[in-house]
Amino acid sequence: MLNIVLFGPPGAGKGTQSAKLIEKYGLVHLSTGDIFRANIKGNTELGKLAKSYTDAGNLVPDEVTIQILESEVNKNPNAKGFIFDGFPRTTPQAEALDAFLKTRGTTIHQMLALQVPEEELVKRLLLRGEQSDRPDDKDENIIRNRISVYNKQTAVVADYYSQQGKYSPVDGVGDIQVIFDRLCAVMDQIPSKA
Ligand code: AMP
Repeated sequence: MLNIVLFGPPGAGKGTQSAKLIEKYGLVHLSTGDIFRANIKGNTELGKLAKSYTDAGNLVPDEVTIQILESEVNKNPNAKGFIFDGFPRTTPQAEALDAFLKTRGTTIHQMLALQVPEEELVKRLLLRGEQSDRPDDKDENIIRNRISVYNKQTAVVADYYSQQGKYSPVDGVGDIQVIFDRLCAVMDQIPSKA
């Protein structure tokens, strides 16, 4: 298997690059943000619970998020591997993911972390807000809160993988294809596929 965490702040390009990576490497894309949005749209119990958090740009509680993630992994028993996009966002989520993957005889092989300056993120998200129906992209205060939540609660997850020797920063500024090529250069160097 090949399991990748595609990491970075909101607006770093994780969704865009995940779509290209799954196509090239034949992996399954798991985005907790996409799962929450689908549930909000479908007005499910999970959607009702998640909405107050996602609308404000705050994190959905770990217990809920971890359970959802694990059940999505379990829905893909024949996957060659996964790209985790937007998960883990806290250290407890990273620990839970490690423990869970271990029970399945696998692990996270690498974190690819897109590096984008904050003002560029705000610009990108406001533009996305004009083009999509995501409420959390339409308000600059919510955007700035999401970036602040990332800095306070999520950025530390990079240290977790760095301590395991699995952290690769990748410049996330520039042409989409150029950024993709940088990601592929890292992907192609990943040694273990256990
Ligand atoms: P995203 O599409 O990854 O930007 O996620 C959109 C929103 O979904 C976030 O602002 C959070 O409210 C929620 N969310 C997504 N992934 C997670 C996660 N791993 N932990 C907690 N909340 C999450």
